[in-house]
Amino acid sequence: MKYHLITMGCPKNKVDSDGIEMLLQGADYRSTAHAKDADVLIVNTCGFLEAAKEESIGVLKELGRAKRKNQVLIAAGCLAQRNGDEVIARVPRVDGLLGTRRWMEVVELVNSVRGGKANRALQRYTLLGDPEVGFASATPRPPVAAGSAYLKISDGCNAPCAFCTIPSFKGKLRSRPLEAIVDEAIALVEGGARELVLVAQDTTDYGRDMGAPDSLPQLISAICNRTDDRLQWLRLMYAYPGHVSDSLIEVMARERKMAHYLDMPLQHGDARTLRRMHRPSRMETVYDHLAKLRAAMPDIALRTTFIVGYPGETEEEFQGLLDFVAAAEFDRLGAFRFSAEPGTPAATLPDAVPEDVKEERWARLMELQQPISLRKNQAQVHSLMDVLVEGTGESTRGEPLLLGRSYRDAPEVDGLVLIPGVRDVAAGAMLQVRITGAMEYDLIGERMEIETFSSTRASIGLMES
Ligand code: SF4
Repeated sequence: MKYHLITMGCPKNKVDSDGIEMLLQGADYRSTAHAKDADVLIVNTCGFLEAAKEESIGVLKELGRAKRKNQVLIAAGCLAQRNGDEVIARVPRVDGLLGTRRWMEVVELVNSVRGGKANRALQRYTLLGDPEVGFASATPRPPVAAGSAYLKISDGCNAPCAFCTIPSFKGKLRSRPLEAIVDEAIALVEGGARELVLVAQDTTDYGRDMGAPDSLPQLISAICNRTDDRLQWLRLMYAYPGHVSDSLIEVMARERKMAHYLDMPLQHGDARTLRRMHRPSRMETVYDHLAKLRAAMPDIALRTTFIVGYPGETEEEFQGLLDFVAAAEFDRLGAFRFSAEPGTPAATLPDAVPEDVKEERWARLMELQQPISLRKNQAQVHSLMDVLVEGTGESTRGEPLLLGRSYRDAPEVDGLVLIPGVRDVAAGAMLQVRITGAMEYDLIGERMEIETFSSTRASIGLMES
């Protein structure tokens, strides 16, 4: 039996897809890159924003149109959980829905569909809602690709952000047991991970549901202490500003394996907009956090994201955001144009910002950030950096390029280090690179050594040229 799995959306979905794959493979299913060859088609959907929802529906429709008799089509993940009825109405050839907290029952669902045990009420097979078993025990993960792996530490979110749909379908925060996370970290490192990226809706709220708020420092220490030195970077994504504690900053600075990098989505820089967003709005506290992080780790790379065009955002409030961005000088910055998500408090707010104004504000924000990012990158020129190789590419002149990332770049969302003239190194290798040039998003470098760490030199699979 074969399956074809398509993953939409964010890294948290990718982690669930890894688990789905391993469970299917444990039940003797094999992966195929071609939908037409598969017995089971699964789309792990994204339902975060309207655009992402339509993209997931589009993929399901395409698979549904080409679906053969006896092929099974499952919609899994956020959109299935959030808008299951709509998925079925718009893609009638979907056979089953698998919710965000029940992906670990994928084999049971597939067997039910194939065995014809339909849910009569819905005429579909559905596994939504809370599972009866505990959340996310240590599900096996597939081999690590390119030396980097995401590690999900919790699911759901307790924050009340007025624009966000996630709590409505992911539910409240549920933390995975510390031991299960550490065991998975050890297994991932043994499987070739040089970098582990901690993800969750809010990583910094880890443990609150277990009666132990601010448990993230303890988790970080446990991972750092119990993995061997093949782990080079433990990276933290999705920090909530109100939850970045002094003990977290202290452990980030102390633990050698911690990447000096923090992704802290702030969403806005003006207190009035932040209040309407139901987000922490004391800007003094945010400045204080940034100062503490930079004092403890002068080489830290800080990433954030903002929403522009939130309902009621006046030109003055937007200017407040620009002033904040100019003062805070983030290394990396992403921005979204506000999108009203049905069912959220923000969708009912008055004073919608016209689309052309959102567009113009988005462009002004990105334009402001570009020289800041460039300056931050230029400060790296002449330094030596460890670079995790992701793959190869070609320059615009057709010359070979090695593509990698430094600790300053998270996978998929940040920039790259480009190493011209090199192609003979396998993805997953860690190289020492001298930085020779800088652009707004990417750095240019030259290889100094084949491997940074001699103990692993033989195991990385360098390809002979
Ligand atoms: S912290 Fe993030 S996931 Fe949680 S409600 Fe706010 S935006 Fe949504």
